[in-house]
Amino acid sequence: MNNYLEEVYLKRGISKEVFGLVNKAEASLEKEFKTIDEISEINQLKVLNAMQDVSVNTECLGESTGYGYDDYGRETLEKLYAKVFKAEAALVRPSITCGTHALTIVLSAILRPGDILYCPAGRPYDTLEGVIGLKDENPPGSLKEFNIGYLETPLKDDDFNYPEIEKTLKENKNIKLIEIQRSKGYDARTSFTIKRMGELIEFIRKIREDLIIMVDNCYGEFVELSEPIEIGADVIAGSLIKNPGGGLAPIGGYIAGNTDLIELCANRLTSPGLGAEVGATLGLNRSFFQGFFMSPVITANALKAAVLAAKVYEELGFVTIPPSNSERTDIIQAVKLGKPEYLIAFCKGIQAGSAVDSNVLPEPYPMPGYHSDVIMAAGAFIQGSSIELSADGPLEEPYCVYFQGGLTYPSAKFGISMSVQALQNVLE
Ligand SMILES: *Cc1c(COP(=O)(O)O)cnc(C)c1O
Repeated sequence: MNNYLEEVYLKRGISKEVFGLVNKAEASLEKEFKTIDEISEINQLKVLNAMQDVSVNTECLGESTGYGYDDYGRETLEKLYAKVFKAEAALVRPSITCGTHALTIVLSAILRPGDILYCPAGRPYDTLEGVIGLKDENPPGSLKEFNIGYLETPLKDDDFNYPEIEKTLKENKNIKLIEIQRSKGYDARTSFTIKRMGELIEFIRKIREDLIIMVDNCYGEFVELSEPIEIGADVIAGSLIKNPGGGLAPIGGYIAGNTDLIELCANRLTSPGLGAEVGATLGLNRSFFQGFFMSPVITANALKAAVLAAKVYEELGFVTIPPSNSERTDIIQAVKLGKPEYLIAFCKGIQAGSAVDSNVLPEPYPMPGYHSDVIMAAGAFIQGSSIELSADGPLEEPYCVYFQGGLTYPSAKFGISMSVQALQNVLE
């Protein structure tokens, strides 16, 4: 069997050495893969049983147009998300265009002039800088323009700086909303597990009970057995072209949380008074339901790919965040490559291993919302979908590549092999 597989790999330009390296790494990950499978099985049943409980039926898979009043599928889908994420209510919409948009809706729905947004666990995702107003030149319409303040406490030694957080909370009575980002995103920190976020939330609540706590849940869905609302978050948001769309949602974002907050978000998403009642789904309900149904297994495939990539690159002597044997809370695998040509080679290899656009050569370019040039490998069915095999990284020290996704594990393994081969070709 392995001889046959090796032949297939060799025909595609992978050397015997690289094939051997990847397979040896895979063989050593039995324990990690077993844990991923167990979590995936439990999460799959969580979603399946919730679908049964909210009575997903054939009518849910139909389409609405125009205003989208009484879209039974949309309403049931939102009940389903709420149930799975243990929230009171949810918005799951194609009109939420991406993760940044979902987060922006939450921020601008809740905050009022004079309020302060506080990030106790370091700076949020790059694309939110313009939204909050943290850049030298902010796009028109930032929160800052509406006189909404911002405070942050950076991490200290990769951990929460509890004394500083306490001080900031006590000294700034206008803090209204707390934002915590579960996944590291483009940062070289560790991602926050549900347990760690739970400790932080408990600490914050002890000091100030009245605060609203939101978690940017992008890339985190179904990686662990529980989700942020279960450990005390009031509202979470994420993108449907990451984990919860299961690779099938062609667009969309979700927000889940307490009823009053979701109503505020619905009024910001559409209009005060119209709220969640409008919003046609244009035939996307089927992909949303099916993608959410698939998500626990698709997420597990992506996780196995992340762990395999970590192990392979550790064998090659690179620093990985997180290491292959560590607990996971998101699907992102960072590898510190140290040199721009390695980063470019890695991304070219992943692109060459993709199902779509495998002959495209990715090049670094400036991206809206990001501070340096970024190189992205994405041969995806859905543009920019990062639950699909993808790799990207900003062209700056320490030339970290952020690798994620892989709808099927065997295709992701092939893509990783291509990246190692591309790197080997540069090294020689
Ligand atoms: C992807 C991501 C976002 C933004 O999502 P987009 O869909 O790219 O706008 C925000 N936060 C984190 C942690 C992310 O991974």
